[in-house]
Amino acid sequence: AKLKRVPLIAGNWKMNLDHLQSIAFVQKLAWTLKDANHDFGVDGAEVAVFPPFTDLRSVQTLIAADKLDVRFGGQDLSEHESGAYTGEISGAFLSSLDCRYVLVGHSERRTMHGETDEQLSRKVSAALTHGLVPVLCVGETADDLEQHGPSAVPVAQLKAGLVGISGSPEIVVAYEPVWAIGSGKAATPEQAEQVAARLRETLAEVLGDDVAAATRILYGGSVKSANIASLMREPNIDGALVGGASLDVAEFASISRFS
Ligand code: PGA
Repeated sequence: AKLKRVPLIAGNWKMNLDHLQSIAFVQKLAWTLKDANHDFGVDGAEVAVFPPFTDLRSVQTLIAADKLDVRFGGQDLSEHESGAYTGEISGAFLSSLDCRYVLVGHSERRTMHGETDEQLSRKVSAALTHGLVPVLCVGETADDLEQHGPSAVPVAQLKAGLVGISGSPEIVVAYEPVWAIGSGKAATPEQAEQVAARLRETLAEVLGDDVAAATRILYGGSVKSANIASLMREPNIDGALVGGASLDVAEFASISRFS
């Protein structure tokens, strides 16, 4: 079943790299990936970057002009269509910049910007309405883990994020334990697989077996080239959402070929 799912390695730049730096970075990344595929004969994973909004036009222009094999997306979107929402970015805007993906509900948005599950389900809908693939991020804090065990909170967040969604939408789920993000302490492959398997069961309950089988579930939280291979060996882990290590071209390219 896993063979049908194209692995996705996604780089969440967070608030790093301005539009000029983004051009240099994506160009170098594309060259490195191309060389690597040439050298290793690897049918690489799909590789995507999530730059700040102000970089997206530059990244779009570069990728289109040079026909680079790199996808991109926004780090957030508004739940609203348009209007008096100062500072917000609509799904329509991202879509018209050729974004394929958009992150929804990253833990930093949930905690620092108070984004709620109800709001996030509206963001998932907004993304799908505009032809974007939402990358819905879920994950438990260290406290949650202690109090509720490993899967309860991520499963509840996934269910809540999918409220109002039906049919066979293309979505991506990113399981990111909050305690593993930026901590240098990734979940073990066994821990990540245990939760990913529960998330896939949840997808099956909510959207049916076909969607569950087709949906890519990523692991995120201190992913680096040293731990990606063992994570990718797990049957329910289809890729990674990478923060810190996505800002180093060589390291991110290594992760993209799981080595
Ligand atoms: P990290 O961040 O790889 O730096 O732990 C992951 C994320 O926040 O998506």
